[in-house]
Amino acid sequence: MLEKINAWIDDTNRKNYDRRRACTEFAQAFAGFYAPEFLASAYFVVTDDIPRPDFPELRQMGFGDFMDMPASGTTYKDTYYIRSSAVSALRVHFHELVHVVQWRELGALNFIQRYMKEILTCGYADAPLEIMAYDLDKRYGAKVDAFDIPEYVIRNL
Ligand SMILES: [Zn+2]
Repeated sequence: MLEKINAWIDDTNRKNYDRRRACTEFAQAFAGFYAPEFLASAYFVVTDDIPRPDFPELRQMGFGDFMDMPASGTTYKDTYYIRSSAVSALRVHFHELVHVVQWRELGALNFIQRYMKEILTCGYADAPLEIMAYDLDKRYGAKVDAFDIPEYVIRNL
């Protein structure tokens, strides 16, 4: 199942390759939080149809509610998909970039496995990978002094 999801993700990112935009445009807004080199290696796609691996097996495993949940954004590896209604919300970009770091640090299969386990055992709102991302985007929204987000994520995973 992990391999199947992983392959679906690669396929989805490949299909959207020409539509993605580099996150370098947030260099100023996220200065001190995300380095320009990191932002240059992360991408986003604006869409009102956030892609989901809607496999029947996943619904059987109990991910139905999660898959039907309306999300502002979803991150797959180095690319996140964001609704046009959320595209001007810097906190959503900030949040999804936390997930880009998590994906990178854990590795794709580990991230998928851990994220799925957290959703099933804790629920979306209490999933530790989500709590970390929400906590950090909230701090950014509260205008705290800038600190290195990738470094923080790596230390706290
Ligand atoms: Zn999230």
